[in-house]
Amino acid sequence: RAKACGRDRSERFDEAMRAEATRLLDLEADLRRAILQDAFEPFFQPIVRLTDGAVIGHEALLRWRHELHGILPPADFIGVGEDSGLIEQVDWLMYRKVIGIMAGSNAPGYVSINVSPRHFRSDDFVERLLFLLESAGADPGRLRIEITEVALLDDAPRALRMLSQLRERGVLALLDDFGTGFSALSYLHRFPIQALKIDQSFVQGLGSDLHAESLALVRAILALAGTLGIDTIAEGVETQAQRDMLDELGCQYGQGYLYGRPAPA
Ligand code: C2E
Ligand code: MG
Ligand code: MG
Ligand code: MG
Repeated sequence: RAKACGRDRSERFDEAMRAEATRLLDLEADLRRAILQDAFEPFFQPIVRLTDGAVIGHEALLRWRHELHGILPPADFIGVGEDSGLIEQVDWLMYRKVIGIMAGSNAPGYVSINVSPRHFRSDDFVERLLFLLESAGADPGRLRIEITEVALLDDAPRALRMLSQLRERGVLALLDDFGTGFSALSYLHRFPIQALKIDQSFVQGLGSDLHAESLALVRAILALAGTLGIDTIAEGVETQAQRDMLDELGCQYGQGYLYGRPAPA
């Protein structure tokens, strides 16, 4: 391998690039096959009221049942899915399943689905979603969409229109990963947002080395939400201590391993 050691940097770099490109192409081909085979499945994680632990809803989280690699979370394929545009097909398969499960279940509360900013931008999003609900005979009032700030700020007038149309039909919106984006406070009150989901990085900072900063941020988010009359859901609640702090600070709802991991319907 003496020769290999002597190879110059750019040659090794090229090789690494080629290997990565091949891996991504394989993954994309795999993803296409999985769409044909309908290998995607929603897992559900409970969202609870912090005061008494009552379940108020469930978040639907995408999983790929891969024939070789087992159950894969979105992080393993969403990048390629978004770059190739395949994620929209995966999402529609997912949403149809979620809505079918929701229509046939008497689980308490709502079910929320995740919508990527790019997907939210597509023209027929609202129409298709309402059509799915209608075909399944599902109550739109039991469905929520989770979007991020990027989806709102990208084209604010359009986002406002879409959210208003959805809300008229009963589909409310949750703002996901709040605090990690722009958190432009001036626009927030203009959108019909039912709840903010406080990003898990802040929740997990409580009681850690980052306690002081996390506490200040969580407080600020709760104060903002309180002023605007928006509900708050803490993401990634893992310990009783975090639950207690959040409850004391006035956060109403929570979700995390403390209450339940994502699991099949
Ligand atoms: P998210 O919407 O912020 O979802 C929360 C993530 O935190 C989930 O990861 C969930 O499994 C994880 N989580 C929940 N409780 C805890 C906890 O106590 N501790 C820790 N460490 N993690 C916790 P997951 O399922 O891997 O999903 C990752 C992201 O993928 C989601 O983040 C969402 O942005 C995206 N995603 C999920 N499902 C879909 C989907 O159907 N379509 C699209 N486009 N994106 C999706
Ligand atoms: Mg989410
Ligand atoms: Mg989130
Ligand atoms: Mg997140």
